[in-house]
Amino acid sequence: MLQFLLDGVSHKAARHHRSKPFVMRNTAPLVSFTFDDVPDSAYANGAPVLEAQGARGTFYIAAGICGRPDTHWRAIDRNQVRALHDRRHEIGCHTFSHVSVDRLDARTMEEECRRNRAVLRELCAGVEPTNFCYPFGRASLPRKLQLLRCFDSCRGIYEGVNAGIVDLAMLRVIELYDRTLTRDKLRRVLRENRERRGWLIFYTHDVADPPSPIGCSPRFLRTIVETVQDANMPCLPVRDALAAIGYSPVREAAPRAPVSMPVGRDTTAGLRNDSASAA
Ligand SMILES: [Zn+2]
Repeated sequence: MLQFLLDGVSHKAARHHRSKPFVMRNTAPLVSFTFDDVPDSAYANGAPVLEAQGARGTFYIAAGICGRPDTHWRAIDRNQVRALHDRRHEIGCHTFSHVSVDRLDARTMEEECRRNRAVLRELCAGVEPTNFCYPFGRASLPRKLQLLRCFDSCRGIYEGVNAGIVDLAMLRVIELYDRTLTRDKLRRVLRENRERRGWLIFYTHDVADPPSPIGCSPRFLRTIVETVQDANMPCLPVRDALAAIGYSPVREAAPRAPVSMPVGRDTTAGLRNDSASAA
């Protein structure tokens, strides 16, 4: 019982603590399309929809589950991961074994990221996964603080448009599910994105006909991508959207303690290399 309560507190703290604050400086509203896990239908049906519009997505891969069946789909295999990378989609990190990070200690978390990175590097020439997504959307504050040092951004599953001062360690999303993304909701979030000059991140899983409860149909995805393009909002993978909001990671050796940074700079990026080398 006590453990349950403590987990709840830690989870809430991870959600609400602005661990990697950043002032967005983009000149136009942005949109990203992201895919978690990734089902093979997202590769076969989802990626071509984006490509047909000249756009690219971010695919958060857990290399340890590649090729495996799940309740609703079979996960993308390793050759398909390589093909996505070759077609200039972004490959993100989703742990190695698709595990809830709030259940991990620091060492196991490091090992999850290290193994995933090692396999992805072997598969995809020149790949460097710099963006992370929490499996099941779950995080604890200690693991969130650990991950933000290893990755430029971490994406959650909490709803919202990213705008103003954002938490790069818990980016907000809008579900791209046939089941939940209504026409009214789409209109509302696009309006908010324009008015606040925000960064709207869609996320989904399978792209199938019919889709699972946490996926979308190819036709629905096409409609959303076309609507976004008609609204003149650039569709960028997370890595490029980060550049567009003015984020520049510090990759060279950096001091251990964060130093005061001007507004608009990441205040914790200086720590990145400390744990990146160990992750
Ligand atoms: Zn997942």
